[in-house]
Amino acid sequence: MITIALSKGRIFEETTPLLAAAGIVPQDDPETSRKLILDTNHADVRLIIVRASDVPTYVQYGAADLGIAGKDVLHEHGGDGLYQPLDLQIAKCRMMVAVPQGFDYEGAVKQGARLRVATKYLQTAREHFAQKGVHVDLIKLYGSMELAPLVGLADAIVDLVSSGGTLKANNLVAVEEIMQISSRLVINQAALKLKHARIQPLLDTFASCLKV
Ligand code: ATP
Ligand code: MG
Repeated sequence: MITIALSKGRIFEETTPLLAAAGIVPQDDPETSRKLILDTNHADVRLIIVRASDVPTYVQYGAADLGIAGKDVLHEHGGDGLYQPLDLQIAKCRMMVAVPQGFDYEGAVKQGARLRVATKYLQTAREHFAQKGVHVDLIKLYGSMELAPLVGLADAIVDLVSSGGTLKANNLVAVEEIMQISSRLVINQAALKLKHARIQPLLDTFASCLKV
């Protein structure tokens, strides 16, 4: 049995064509079904539906053989026990620092000000500001980071940005890119050895689907 961990929403949607290329068709739609284990047209392949940030954990412990997770999530997790052979070039966005319109971020950085930064991505934010030599107090949030500067919880946020629509709607501007984000295939290191004959063809098919 091969178990693949996916999150619903954009990752599931963008993964469906890759699975189809490998001849794998889920028998349920996670957006409408409440099932967390989805059968596929192959008796020996199943999908499990987990939170995006939990995908690396399921794969690390071998509860799933493979998974697909964003670079943001993998960076926070740390990647222990995971083999990351392929950038699938899906669910692309950017990890950015954003501040309220009119806030002089560069000026604050130059003056050595201490910044309060709200984010879901503590590890990534910590590394970024340490590398720049900027002193920050990080405030962990679980969502709706855009709100934090509007109500005085933080001076800045670190969040994912794609169109910039949410920032704009909340009078925020992106001032710095931390990293480009896309999703990667992750494989449990033990599973890759033990189930190599079943996993390698999947890997090859996914690789052949990537836009060059
Ligand atoms: P949840 O929505 O359950 O809190 P999440 O925000 O991590 O969790 P998704 O919104 O499904 O889950 O995002 C999954 C992955 O897709 C993220 O880890 C990131 O890599 C990528 N992603 C997030 N937001 C965007 C976006 N606006 N555009 C493109 N890719 C994105
Ligand atoms: Mg989300």
